[in-house]
Amino acid sequence: MLINNTSALVQKIKDRKLTSVVITTHHKPDGDAMGSTLGLCAFLKHFVSDVVVCTPTDYSENLFWLPGNADVLDFEAVPDLVAQKVALADAVFCLDFNRLSRINQLGDLVRESKGVKVMMDHHLEPEEFADFTYWNHQASSTCELVYLWIKDAFGADFVDADIATCLYTGLMTDTGNFQHNNTKPFTLRLAADLMEHGANHLDIHANIYDVFSLDRSKLFGYSLYKKLEIIPECRTALIHLDRDELRKFNVQTGDTEGLVNFGLGLKDIVFSVLIIDRTERVKMSFRSKGTFPANEFAGKYFEGGGHRNAAGGQSTDTLEATVAKFRQAVLDYKLELQAI
Ligand code: 5GP
Ligand code: MN
Repeated sequence: MLINNTSALVQKIKDRKLTSVVITTHHKPDGDAMGSTLGLCAFLKHFVSDVVVCTPTDYSENLFWLPGNADVLDFEAVPDLVAQKVALADAVFCLDFNRLSRINQLGDLVRESKGVKVMMDHHLEPEEFADFTYWNHQASSTCELVYLWIKDAFGADFVDADIATCLYTGLMTDTGNFQHNNTKPFTLRLAADLMEHGANHLDIHANIYDVFSLDRSKLFGYSLYKKLEIIPECRTALIHLDRDELRKFNVQTGDTEGLVNFGLGLKDIVFSVLIIDRTERVKMSFRSKGTFPANEFAGKYFEGGGHRNAAGGQSTDTLEATVAKFRQAVLDYKLELQAI
């Protein structure tokens, strides 16, 4: 169900009443986060003189080719500049996340900003921090929402090749190349629309998926050969990586993305987890098949959330303690997992 109360905001934009806008997104932004923010940024430049994308952290290098990427400000790299931009903005757009706690310290700055807050998102259970909301948890991606918002409020003619390229990227990555169950006939029509607006699907696919380092391939090989464990009674696959292993394979931001899917690709496995000992905390990625609610599991045990079949969480315990907690927690769902 779409929640849209942005008509007054749209009017303000059309009347050129906004002069400075910040667009932000979640921690370690992915293809949907960067595609939607950069697509929206390119669009808003038609109406707003000062628009900038500010990310809470760095992100994977395979997103650096996106149009407009050179102007992105990373809060971790330039905290004072981002804090100043956020504090003085007339509007702060929050894309692809719906709780300010998801962007750590930047969340407090957004809350305190004098500007109006706008949330555009497709995750469940939004926090009510925004003055304007464009939200639909059935949308495949935030890129889908940005496209529909532009098309319905301003007209699809605004969607040029750069904007279409950004938005196609998020549509493609958040649907796992149009494989996940968030891919509907409507999603494919949207992809076709974006191609007609100038998105080159071959280039986009190659830019995202054909650019990995040798270290990353070796990390995947090592993880599958040495680290993949099965918990058969729970139809669950588990991979955990410690800091030495991350160092050994020179793991960069984004390098572990996709690894969790290998567990789920196994016959009879319906739940897969990747547990990684990041410097600041232990980070977890969950994927499930069918009706098993990975987001509820992540929320109940690991301060997380997300979608039913793709969720994330974290822990401030040690890696060993987190893995042990996971093994225990998944047993609570044994019967449910067996019945999927
Ligand atoms: P990933 O495993 O790719 O990092 O995340 C999968 C999904 O779960 C994404 O939709 C992401 O937004 C969500 N997600 C990842 N980590 C967290 C988290 O710590 N908290 C919440 N609420 N959602 C998360
Ligand atoms: Mn998304």
